[in-house]
Amino acid sequence: MDMPLTITTVMRHAEMYHGEREVVSAVSEQDVRRTSYSGVFRRARKLFNALQALGCQPGDRIATLAWNHQQHLELYYGVICGGYVLHTINPRLFDDQIAYIINHAEDKWIFTEPEFIPTLERLKPQIKHVNGIVVLDTDDDAGASFRNVHVYEHLLAGQDDTCAWPEPGENSACAMCYTSGTTGNPKGVLYSHRSLLLHTLSTAVLDAGGPGANDVIMPLVPMFHVNAWGLPFRAPLVGAGIVFPGRYMGNPQVVGRLITQEKVTYGVSVPTIWQMLLDHLDRSGGNLDTLRKAVVGGAATPLSLFERFRDDYGVELAQGWGMTELCSAGTLNVPGPDFELLDEEQRRQYPLKQGKPIFGLEVKITDDGDNALPWDGVAAGHLKVKGLTVCESYFGATEAESGVDANGWFTTGDVATIDPDGTIQVTDRSKDLIKSGGEWISSIELENCAMTHPAIAEAAVISAAHEKWTERPLLIAVKKPDQTVSREDLLAWFDGKVARWWKPDAVIFVEELPHTATGKVSKLTLREQYGDYLLAQNV
Ligand code: ADP
Repeated sequence: MDMPLTITTVMRHAEMYHGEREVVSAVSEQDVRRTSYSGVFRRARKLFNALQALGCQPGDRIATLAWNHQQHLELYYGVICGGYVLHTINPRLFDDQIAYIINHAEDKWIFTEPEFIPTLERLKPQIKHVNGIVVLDTDDDAGASFRNVHVYEHLLAGQDDTCAWPEPGENSACAMCYTSGTTGNPKGVLYSHRSLLLHTLSTAVLDAGGPGANDVIMPLVPMFHVNAWGLPFRAPLVGAGIVFPGRYMGNPQVVGRLITQEKVTYGVSVPTIWQMLLDHLDRSGGNLDTLRKAVVGGAATPLSLFERFRDDYGVELAQGWGMTELCSAGTLNVPGPDFELLDEEQRRQYPLKQGKPIFGLEVKITDDGDNALPWDGVAAGHLKVKGLTVCESYFGATEAESGVDANGWFTTGDVATIDPDGTIQVTDRSKDLIKSGGEWISSIELENCAMTHPAIAEAAVISAAHEKWTERPLLIAVKKPDQTVSREDLLAWFDGKVARWWKPDAVIFVEELPHTATGKVSKLTLREQYGDYLLAQNV
């Protein structure tokens, strides 16, 4: 039968076959709120009726400034299945960026946590198309002075819990995210029902050992960051329960307790959050006994994290790679039969690879002249992709700004090697690459090496201007508390571990590294600060 591939089918399926599965949200450091998928979808119907009553028209952008919790999931389904476009905004962006993307997306309503009202009040004079705001999780207007201010619970209370969902075409837009725009303005990526559904199915297929109906998933990645990597769709599709950390994602005590108390079996997050959790468990003597699998992605992950998960907590940590422009996941590291043929050291290093592409994603690597490079696990080139889940062009941008070439290949901005079996290893971002005397040096490999030093907590390697070689690697490192290591000893650590000419020229120790709004090390800031260090020091 010719039925459209829509997220509405996920909702229907989950409601019919997994309706009783629990959805748990942390509402304070101690307390949780419990409901089920049936409860979420019942309230999503009320929300859809409320949005219609507010005068929303098909295709209108409805924004959220919200943490990971039940109401945000209701918004995911009420807005998306209601024929509107869910625009999830990262509240950690700078004021000007938030104002820019609200205006650029032409958001009509903003659903917000009370704590972001001061931000919106500050931005009010700049915001152009917004009819009003809806405040989550409170009984009053939380001090908002917009023309229309509603309380979410009051809005839903008056509505019927039945509705006739519209039947949008599978290619209609249903959600959007902006990339963080480390240079220039953020760029909007619009997702269709079809791309999100195919992404949900493709990730489930590749991650065959991943969550199923007996699992409980914890998305430790924000619902405002690439749709929490698709888990709000994947969990109901497979019938897994969900535990949302609410506003406590960065609080390892709460996260650790929730995992144990709610018997979480599968978690996904970025390296920093996992690291914080393990540090806390090391100190407090806690465990991760319920967890059977964890996924890490979003930034390069040191080998030590995989080893700590496995050796200290008995949990398999698998790496994934993705981007806002790919609906989220592009690859997942799932070792195939060839894994057994590798020698011991290759097996030890294997978790550092980002893995194989999901179904429907084609990849290639090219040199600076756009010539394809071999899949030999050695040649590193610009990683390009095309496929069912790849963004064709940015919202409201010209074709020239799309990053897609005439043959349909999208330039990811990452540099990678590809093994003969298609397994990818990201060695850098193009803009972070160090080109020393015309040769490429992988900053990620140098960072991994630095982070295996027992005294080093975090490390970043940037390209610094150099008189003779144009660019040379400069290591910026944070020591673990109470640990000492000299600059000379840290540099000597690289001897025999990387090619001699890759060894950083100098080390700078700092108290902490700067991070972007999405929690990644901001190499741009580091380059601005230390880009001329080698010239100044005459190294
Ligand atoms: P941004 O950080 O630019 O806002 P995304 O959140 O979409 O955008 O991040 C995508 C980028 O994150 C990728 O292009 C890549 O550079 C980096 N990234 C994602 N996953 C990994 C990974 N597993 N290892 C290394 N880098 C990663």
